[in-house]
Amino acid sequence: MTKQRTAIEWTEVTWNPTTGCDRVSPGCDNCYALTLAKRLKAMGADKYQNDGDPRTSGPGFGVTIHPEALQEPYRWRNPRTVFVNSMSDLFHAKVPLGFVRDVFQVIAETPRHTYQVLTKRSARLKKVADKLDWPTNLWMGVSVESADVLSRVDDLRAVPAAVRFLSCEPLLGALDDINLDRINWVIAGGESGPRYRPMELAWARGIRDACQDAGVPFFFKQWGGRTPKALGRELDGRLWDEMPGALAL
Ligand code: SF4
Repeated sequence: MTKQRTAIEWTEVTWNPTTGCDRVSPGCDNCYALTLAKRLKAMGADKYQNDGDPRTSGPGFGVTIHPEALQEPYRWRNPRTVFVNSMSDLFHAKVPLGFVRDVFQVIAETPRHTYQVLTKRSARLKKVADKLDWPTNLWMGVSVESADVLSRVDDLRAVPAAVRFLSCEPLLGALDDINLDRINWVIAGGESGPRYRPMELAWARGIRDACQDAGVPFFFKQWGGRTPKALGRELDGRLWDEMPGALAL
């Protein structure tokens, strides 16, 4: 995929050196990337011609690496915030560790950009973390949609990234016992789309309050609904757009 402006509020551009994925947890049930890949395949897009397992993936959504995409960030002259793999999961078992290293090397060699990598495969992330060199312009995050996957936070804590962040989106339940020790940023939001699962006010307040207690910046992305903007993004009468400031390892 060539560089592409994105509507995601907390990032400026997406970069997909791999595409495709398989569903791994309830947060994946309405995966927008899976739906979009099917459409892109039908439109003939080169990167989306490899089909995935119909039980967990779909047309155009088979895991595929794109070495040619590694050149893209070098061509972006102005500093950008880059969301890595909006259409995949870099730590999917089918992405060779050598290719993950290549992606990290591109990140290290383009320090003018800030990169956000988000995964649900936290076990593999933790397992390979010490086999990777961690550039300071790489922010590493895990998705935490419910208390059932809180172990992902523990896995992330073991990773020597400059910024460790959580994406609690789509938030599907309370995260009452979350431990935010050594976590630098939390994003939360509700699901959007025709089959959205509503987020309860108490869940959103709960993670916001946990962030405030722990002194962790909190970004409230959206309530969700039939469209991303349907119900706005105010929580208790204000916006929450906090970002990581001083970086602590
Ligand atoms: S991990 Fe992400 S990209 Fe993969 S299926 Fe789940 S939501 Fe989609």
